[in-house]
Amino acid sequence: MRAIILTIGDELTGGHTIDTNSSYLAGRIGEQGIRVSRLETVGDDVKVIARQIEIALGDADLVFVTGGLGPTSDDITKEAVALATGRKMVIDPGLRAQLEARFKRYKSATPAVVDSLASIPENSEIIENRAGAAAGFSIEHGDARIFVMPGVPHEMEAVFVHGILPILRRLPRSEVTITRVLKTTGMSESTIAGKLEPVIDEIEAGLGYLPRPGGVELRLTARGSEDRVMRILSESTRIITAALGERVYSPEGEDIHFVVGRMLIDRGVTIAVAESCTGGLIGHLLTQVPGISAVFDRAIVAYSNSAKTDSLDVPAALIEEHGAVSPEVAEAMARGVRERAGTDIGLSTTGIAGPGGGTEEKPVGLVYFGLAGLEGSETGRMVFRGSREIVKLKAAVHGLDLVRCHLLGRGL
Ligand code: AMP
Ligand code: MG
Repeated sequence: MRAIILTIGDELTGGHTIDTNSSYLAGRIGEQGIRVSRLETVGDDVKVIARQIEIALGDADLVFVTGGLGPTSDDITKEAVALATGRKMVIDPGLRAQLEARFKRYKSATPAVVDSLASIPENSEIIENRAGAAAGFSIEHGDARIFVMPGVPHEMEAVFVHGILPILRRLPRSEVTITRVLKTTGMSESTIAGKLEPVIDEIEAGLGYLPRPGGVELRLTARGSEDRVMRILSESTRIITAALGERVYSPEGEDIHFVVGRMLIDRGVTIAVAESCTGGLIGHLLTQVPGISAVFDRAIVAYSNSAKTDSLDVPAALIEEHGAVSPEVAEAMARGVRERAGTDIGLSTTGIAGPGGGTEEKPVGLVYFGLAGLEGSETGRMVFRGSREIVKLKAAVHGLDLVRCHLLGRGL
């Protein structure tokens, strides 16, 4: 079974809005074992939309369309579907009554708007929109079927989950496709490829590398009967984690702050963070984790030298002697925040995020980390490449990974 996703709107082709609907739908449809063969985006031009729908209906079994269902003049998807499937536009009396009742409650909308929202191609099956006024609809056309959804992402999701997913689940199919993501950090793609080389023939799942700022994600995909797919995925995961060791921080595609946060919570280990170049990002990531308040005490953003002295008790003379970006200051920051907060662990970052401010001795992207614990403290040094934003993100992920390694009983 093959699917094509078509997203519509000048805001997408103009680059003003990122097309998140396609990636959401591709993921959810793919989970159902339906192969998505194309993603297409078209601007608000009724003839072009109609032509692309016609082509898609010829090439795929299922066509998913989002956008352009509203009552305004740029919302022309319904006309395009009617053109492509050779149907008239009609006002659906049931939908019209529903919309009238809805607008009466809000005391808004003119009759013209209601008529426009209630217009659909003849003999369409209406799909309820629990999140808004523009209903979705579906049409069988030859051997293919088209589903049309609103463009607003949370409305699209509401229509898809409640109205379309149950239909997809009932489709006859012998195969499923399941994808699993293994997350790694601290290893390049080529290092990973080298380590997997000796076992690559044993990995039955399809293997894809997705390099991200915080590390490489490995995407495993298997197709077939559900039993076979589950067996292939767990066996492939086992082989890869054996080869890469603890560089795999999540075999379930979880972000590192969730993994570390849960480790801290499960073990009852408390933490405080002193951040210079990461500017509060580690604190932000940790506070994304539900239940973290049990173990997370504070993140102090101490950017200037005087802030490092005032709020973390880093001796001014130490900064004077070694510079703010130094292992000595990183260590003092970690100790300082740990002592002030009275936590088990103190983590610190101090570095040069760039793009300016680098020297030969201390290049842009240089970050020192400090980790203070019960048995003393350690420091780490990394040089990250990328923009200021990327350096901050990489440093935050690395800092969290240091905590993970510490909890696993390894030094820095
Ligand atoms: P529309 O249904 O075309 O009126 O779209 C309404 C709003 O939904 C647009 O202004 C966009 O902000 C948003 N939107 C439409 N299509 C997409 C898409 N494919 N991905 C993300 N947002 C979208
Ligand atoms: Mg639009």
